[in-house]
Amino acid sequence: MADMSHTQPAFGGMLRNLIDDGILELRTEPLDALVERRLKHLWEHTPCPQCGNRSIRTWENVDRVWCRSCQFKPAYTYGTPFSEKDLTCGEVLLAFILYADTLLSINQIAIVLDRAYNTIHTAIRDLEAALERGFPVVWNRLKQPYSGPLQVDESGKVCSGYKGQDPPRPGRARGGSSRSGRTRWQGRHGDQLTLVAACRDELTVIRAKKGIRYEGDLEPLITEAEDLSQPLGEVWTDGLQAYRWMEYDHRTVIHKEQYISPDGVHINQVECLWSLLHPWLRKFRGLSKHGLEQAAHTFGCVWSLNNIGASLFALIDCFTPGRFRSFA
Ligand SMILES: [Zn+2]
Repeated sequence: MADMSHTQPAFGGMLRNLIDDGILELRTEPLDALVERRLKHLWEHTPCPQCGNRSIRTWENVDRVWCRSCQFKPAYTYGTPFSEKDLTCGEVLLAFILYADTLLSINQIAIVLDRAYNTIHTAIRDLEAALERGFPVVWNRLKQPYSGPLQVDESGKVCSGYKGQDPPRPGRARGGSSRSGRTRWQGRHGDQLTLVAACRDELTVIRAKKGIRYEGDLEPLITEAEDLSQPLGEVWTDGLQAYRWMEYDHRTVIHKEQYISPDGVHINQVECLWSLLHPWLRKFRGLSKHGLEQAAHTFGCVWSLNNIGASLFALIDCFTPGRFRSFA
């Protein structure tokens, strides 16, 4: 995998040497303890998924929680994406943070954590799916008053990779193939997707879409941003045809000619976002269409949480949507 150091500046050969020589070693026990503490806290404030009573008890150093009413005794990870992984809770959370918050690829995260690619990939995908459902709940709890306009913009086309295939795996995570040849990826090209993003104050919502016609494609994005930051104020866009359908209080800046309209309308915030999102997406050699949609959305959620300085507890809460209630 020597070739990676050329294409992945975020994970250079020197960093790889530190890992191979055992100099950079991870100690995830404190993170394991933090996740455990938070999940048990959530249990104590959640009705029992079996009987619905608020009678769940937890103990330190005990892996199971206990319902005094119905004697249900699940593991504290029950009903969360931390459950039934070959990774500790801290490793699962760390893998996700390295994925969402750095330019390290899943291959590289597997090397850092000394785990198989598939183990890491599955854990990240599970957390990502949970985040999609849990982020609005947590965000609404944390949200600040909003005053800014909603800036909306679309990026150029990005390719989702190749159809029907996961990203290529370079053998084992550690001590794998000694051949340094680049993995060639066979298969049909995937879908061309357009990224659309909406930024309002600290909130960022990103979706990947197959085209942009306002009615079908932008409406869900704006509705999502509105749900997360209501009431919706002004919407600022560039002069793209698709936006002319919009029924909102809507002002445009015409792109090619100007960056800020005479009355101060601009979409600089969302344009800055592209300069961060594109390098992040480039770390995937390819994703399924669904994978790209999910990854783009994840980036927006984590970016928003970072913007308000959210704690790790808030991130953990995002992975427990409905506080296990869906299992009732
Ligand atoms: Zn119960």
